[in-house]
Amino acid sequence: MAQPDEPVKTPGASLDFIRQIVEDDLATGRHTHIATRFPPEPNGYLHIGHAKSICLNFGIALEKGGTCNLRLDDTNPTKEDVEYVDAIKEDVAWLGFTWDAELYASDYFSKLYEFAVTLITRGLAYVDSLTADEIRALRGTLTEPGKNSPYRDRPVEESLDLFRRMRDGEFPDGTHVLRARIDMTSPNLNMRDPALYRIRHASHHRTGDAWCIYPMYDYAHPLSDALEGITHSLCTLEFEDHRPLYDWLVDHLFEGEKPQQIEFARLNLNYTVMSKRKLLQLVQQRHVAGWDDPRMPTISGLRRRGYTPEAVRDFCARIGIAKKENVIDVAQLEYSVREDLNRRAPRVMAVLTPLKVVITNYPEGQTEAVDVINNPEDPSAGTRKVTFSRELYIERDDFREDPPKKFFRLAPGREVRLRCAYFITCQEVVKDDSGTIVELRCTYDPATRGGDAPDGRRVKATMHWVSAQHALPVEVRLYDRLFSVENPEAAQEGKTFVDYLNPGSLEVLRDCQAEAGLSDALPGARFQFERLGYFCVDPDSRPGALVFNRTVSLRDAWAKIEKQQS
Ligand code: ATP
Ligand code: MG
Repeated sequence: MAQPDEPVKTPGASLDFIRQIVEDDLATGRHTHIATRFPPEPNGYLHIGHAKSICLNFGIALEKGGTCNLRLDDTNPTKEDVEYVDAIKEDVAWLGFTWDAELYASDYFSKLYEFAVTLITRGLAYVDSLTADEIRALRGTLTEPGKNSPYRDRPVEESLDLFRRMRDGEFPDGTHVLRARIDMTSPNLNMRDPALYRIRHASHHRTGDAWCIYPMYDYAHPLSDALEGITHSLCTLEFEDHRPLYDWLVDHLFEGEKPQQIEFARLNLNYTVMSKRKLLQLVQQRHVAGWDDPRMPTISGLRRRGYTPEAVRDFCARIGIAKKENVIDVAQLEYSVREDLNRRAPRVMAVLTPLKVVITNYPEGQTEAVDVINNPEDPSAGTRKVTFSRELYIERDDFREDPPKKFFRLAPGREVRLRCAYFITCQEVVKDDSGTIVELRCTYDPATRGGDAPDGRRVKATMHWVSAQHALPVEVRLYDRLFSVENPEAAQEGKTFVDYLNPGSLEVLRDCQAEAGLSDALPGARFQFERLGYFCVDPDSRPGALVFNRTVSLRDAWAKIEKQQS
């Protein structure tokens, strides 16, 4: 096994501040059973930020023998869809987690309605008949207090009657809302009589037309947590200011132990956007091929790109949980997948930009099978036979007619090793009329079979190759960052994040040549193409027409030198 350059933090190995709270609550006996939940809104596909929340919620439940629910927070009928529900379930399961219950906020619509009636009866909520604009105008600002609505003191009976008639569909959208009766002068805007229910004549993907009033997220969320007996309700920092409302609702409607909301910093990655709204825009405007486009930071995109669940979990464990916002370098995600694939991916040879090599002293028509090691990190993976012949392909980049300093690969008159095969020496460069190199004529030394010289002669480079006649033509898709700036969300005036899309984020190479043994690789199979990176078979593949996605490159020492020199 390769030793990573940094110590691996396994989930829970060091206690973050949330795990410390959980630990303390168990130690003091405040809780004997830990219950968490992951509460996505089914209005888009999950992204790597959600993976952080999933690893936290499911991770804590696993570590403490507790439970974690998957709760679809489906309170907004117009933006939600079963397609998203199915994708969310697939992604959570793929990450390796099993939910204790699959629940929907819409399962609680009747209970939430009853809670609202209770609040009205107790003078803690009222039906407001102002328009949305009028309500906004009375709301005040961060520096000015709000003003009471003229409907704030309407009699309980009248609110109860109106609320029932709202439910029964008597009123069009926007004519009434149910509001909590808290404090219009509160410094916290969320406490200035927030809306709890609105009228929306819209079909819901689960409840159909049973309801035409829908609870607000801020109302449904804490009460769903409390109904499920959630002990620790973990959410991102933007909900910090909503916590007083969260507590106000559960305190007024529940007895005994109540869920504790704890906020943590959301995951931000550079060169990426992460809000579902923006990801949806990328999909709808066809800047990408779909939610699972391998350039997307979605879990389905990472999966298609070739990421493993282990790599994503490792990344989430490494970045940890903190209270302060920060931006994580996408290179850290790449680090985690490289580490994981280094251990598990078999090595194969493939040439992305082929250059023909003819071994002039190798007999025409002869072939032989050389032994190639499958995975130097894993001796149990053994060796395989790869066919060598007179005509080969090497990487065009592995040859320079006029080699710069420190370029040790093939050049006129120079000898290099072909991996697990022979030493070859370049004797002649063949060009076409336009001056493009079309072929190298080389000689080989039969005494170097297996890749070493009996006389101890050294070469400075070992190169991958495939036999021209035996190679399998494949398509390879190379991905770069989707955005060309670190923070596409901080758009300059007159621009939006889509103006920062990287035009070179996808490069399709159609005449790559891979070793023949790959012909039966199935979608999802992952390999290391020696010296090039990790690649994964894309579902677009057809028999005889394989498509590979580059998951991540290897660290290429020469590319680095060249970049520094330029
Ligand atoms: P987005 O802002 O991307 O649209 P969201 O917060 O609206 O996401 P939800 O479906 O409401 O998406 O999120 C489900 C859970 O995932 C919430 O608990 C939320 O706090 C958490 N979450 C969302 N984005 C991140 C992130 N970038 N990092 C960590 N947790 C996140
Ligand atoms: Mg949300």
